[in-house]
Amino acid sequence: MYLRKDTVPVKVGPLTIGGSDEVIIQSMCTTKTADVDATVAEILRLEEAGCQIVRVTVNNKEAAEAIKEIKKRIHIPLVADIHFDYRLALLAIENGIDKVRINPGNIGRREKVEAVVQACKEKGIPIRIGVNAGSLENHLLEKYGYPTPEAMVESALFHIGILEELDFHDIIVSLKASDVPMAIAAYSMAAEKIKYPLHLGITEAGTLHTGTIKSSAGIGALLAMGIGNTVRISLSADPVEEVKVARELLKTFGLITNAATLVSCPTCGRLDIDLFTIANEVEEYISKIKVPIKVSVLGCAVNGPGEAREADIGIAGARGEGMLFRYGEMIRKVPEADLLSELKKEIDEIVRVFEAT
Ligand code: SF4
Repeated sequence: MYLRKDTVPVKVGPLTIGGSDEVIIQSMCTTKTADVDATVAEILRLEEAGCQIVRVTVNNKEAAEAIKEIKKRIHIPLVADIHFDYRLALLAIENGIDKVRINPGNIGRREKVEAVVQACKEKGIPIRIGVNAGSLENHLLEKYGYPTPEAMVESALFHIGILEELDFHDIIVSLKASDVPMAIAAYSMAAEKIKYPLHLGITEAGTLHTGTIKSSAGIGALLAMGIGNTVRISLSADPVEEVKVARELLKTFGLITNAATLVSCPTCGRLDIDLFTIANEVEEYISKIKVPIKVSVLGCAVNGPGEAREADIGIAGARGEGMLFRYGEMIRKVPEADLLSELKKEIDEIVRVFEAT
């Protein structure tokens, strides 16, 4: 068993990554970073969904300069994603970035690496080393023949070595692959050898449907082993969906407590109400709730009352109506047409009481 709290803690803005059981949710903007209004609008939507750190691509001077204005209008730490160009890293740091994702081994001459490390040190900014199975260094591909978990970990150690040689230790590491077993093996190996926090991700995982399954399988296996201090679900979809999936995944492992949980039945021939509509609407309704309540939506009176009693608030359907349960007690019967609105009212009340205590 690896334990995520055994990593060294690394500060990113006001957050601490690693050194505890907390797992931080990240996402990445899909906008052109230089388009400040569009980028800020997307980040604010991500914040509302529960995103705690957000990354933007910094692929040109305009993007690096936009960081200053973006930072003024958002409330979570901002990460610059930089490939190769150390001048963009320096400009991003100057403009107030909270973390830089760059692989020191790809920056080039030693003076350039030193310049980035020195600027990060002066501002207390960490560096994420992002190893990707699809872009391993040539010397590793020659040694191993093709991407392997061993090659990925060796790549991470190579980049870590460069930073440590410069006495830089505010390091976070990711080892992403789109092949789930390879990612699991690489992160497991890294957790044994690397003391720095690990950022988990299955890269290029796919669309909302397939990407959610692949990411949950890979990241879920790692979280269950105690590995991972931050997560990003990579989806070919609105990044808000990435945050929703990440929150559900962390909830599954009891790794976040500021989220409501929905229990709903798969339905069967006993069903007498439109449960799918109700369950989907309730799921959407509770997705922004930041307190740990449990809501159950069950189709009938066979299993419904038993399950509903386990929840803070729940309904069990019957022919044309439903029973409302609160903290295990049936509080009233409601016509089907009013079931959803009555359930929402009860949810609001429970949240209000929770927040007041
Ligand atoms: Fe079927 Fe009722 Fe169970 Fe839902 S709760 S699956 S409707 S028996």
